[in-house]
Amino acid sequence: MPHLPVHPARTQRRSGGCLCGAIRFTVTGEPEDPHICGCAHCSHRAGSPFQWWTGFPLAGLSWTGGHGEPTWYDTHAGRTRRGFCPVCGSHIAALDHGDTALVGILVTALDGYRDDPAHVPLNPNRLPEAAPWLAPAPHRTGDPSTSV
Ligand SMILES: [Zn+2]
Ligand SMILES: [Zn+2]
Repeated sequence: MPHLPVHPARTQRRSGGCLCGAIRFTVTGEPEDPHICGCAHCSHRAGSPFQWWTGFPLAGLSWTGGHGEPTWYDTHAGRTRRGFCPVCGSHIAALDHGDTALVGILVTALDGYRDDPAHVPLNPNRLPEAAPWLAPAPHRTGDPSTSV
């Protein structure tokens, strides 16, 4: 009987959910491009200077809580929708219309995210739109030594 190698990226499994527990989910596969985003939509929606995102294979996403899927809202009409809990308002996910490969997950919705080095953000995103005090941005200051 051949022994098939187990691919660690495909066996990674994480769970998460909203603050009240109505929305629960699991994702499998390797996190992709963890980053923080201070764009106008992330900031306004979150009531926060930025949101902390990572991508997962859409095929590995399952909604496991009693409420099923989150409520979806199109932040970019026809392009992107964001999922949140209709009970407690926690932000959970983002999907680009037509993208069958990836789902964006808010790292703060994942169980145990503080202890998971896979989510350390690699890049800030759209800093020109972000709160000006948030982080020095090389493309704003022209000083590459201030790169995050
Ligand atoms: Zn909730
Ligand atoms: Zn954003």
